[in-house]
Amino acid sequence: MAKRVTKGFADKTAKALRDTKRHCAVCGEPIEMIKHVVTQQAGGGSIRFKEKMVAVCNCNRSEVYK
Ligand SMILES: [Zn+2]
Repeated sequence: MAKRVTKGFADKTAKALRDTKRHCAVCGEPIEMIKHVVTQQAGGGSIRFKEKMVAVCNCNRSEVYK
């Protein structure tokens, strides 16, 4: 019984991992999700950092990785 549960979980995990792999319709590259930190100029001269998840493929790779 325990073995079945483990196998089922592994299958589920593998499926979930596969589902996150999407391919770009333009370049056909697998789309990679990365955490991108953007700086925002707030009022009064203070700078705020914001974390954003960005989808990266061949189309915008050069823009994201500067
Ligand atoms: Zn692309």
